[in-house]
Amino acid sequence: MIAIYPGSFDPITLGHLDIIERGSRLFEGIIVAVLCNPQKSPLFPVPHRLVQIEACTQHLPNVTVESFSGLTVDYARLRKAGAILRGLRVLSDFEKELQMAHTNTTLCKELETIFLATSTEYSFLSSSVVKEIAQFGGVVDHLVPVNVAQDIYRCFNKTPPAVTLNTTIK
Ligand code: ADP
Repeated sequence: MIAIYPGSFDPITLGHLDIIERGSRLFEGIIVAVLCNPQKSPLFPVPHRLVQIEACTQHLPNVTVESFSGLTVDYARLRKAGAILRGLRVLSDFEKELQMAHTNTTLCKELETIFLATSTEYSFLSSSVVKEIAQFGGVVDHLVPVNVAQDIYRCFNKTPPAVTLNTTIK
């Protein structure tokens, strides 16, 4: 069975990569599907994200990467995928993901959503956390693949750490 792993991946983190690696051992093929969402203003444009994901999944021969827009179920049908792969970190993920899975079932009964629990070391990790650290010039090497960390440092043009004191205590 082919599974699609849809998401924003802005940028891909080691938590995403862990789900992809583990998913690639369970499924015949995984398609990492970057959702083009015109409502979000991204850190990296979609074509750049595709290059980043391709570079860090090179060691996984049954993983391919592409972008899509529209409904995930329609995209899954187009790719003849039998499953949607998603990751779960915390309880708040569960609520959102379960609602999405149920909604997708109403649109396409044959498509199963398969959840993989995060590996404990990545349970706190999200693309937003990475962006928050990066905008203040913090170190992100332990959070994202090497090629993505390089892109982030280039993008913010900063060398960590940069601390500014805004108040003076007398
Ligand atoms: P979306 O905007 O669709 O939530 P994301 O790129 O944020 O896209 O996440 C894609 C999927 O990866 C989601 O199912 C999310 O729960 C999962 N995910 C994100 N970070 C992690 C992590 N650290 N560990 C496990 N799963 C994760």
